[in-house]
Amino acid sequence: MATKHPNKHIRQALEYAEAQGWTVRKAGPRAHAWGRIMCGHGHSECRMSIWSTPRSPQDHARDIEHKVDRCPGPASEAADDTDHHAEN
Ligand SMILES: [Zn+2]
Repeated sequence: MATKHPNKHIRQALEYAEAQGWTVRKAGPRAHAWGRIMCGHGHSECRMSIWSTPRSPQDHARDIEHKVDRCPGPASEAADDTDHHAEN
């Protein structure tokens, strides 16, 4: 990660996201959010804004990790190869 988030909890969540193949993008200096994350599969539901100073950094970090965990993974042709639990 080129730029580290100032909050320890969120930084750890972002590192977790990157470890799962997610992309962490730092926003521009005038953006309201610190940045955003997106999964490596391009799912429209797998995008999330990362705040610089959320009211509860630990909750925000948990939201990030849940978002990462909810990614349905690669398209079905690669489903045999996944190592996480299928939803259905
Ligand atoms: Zn996804």
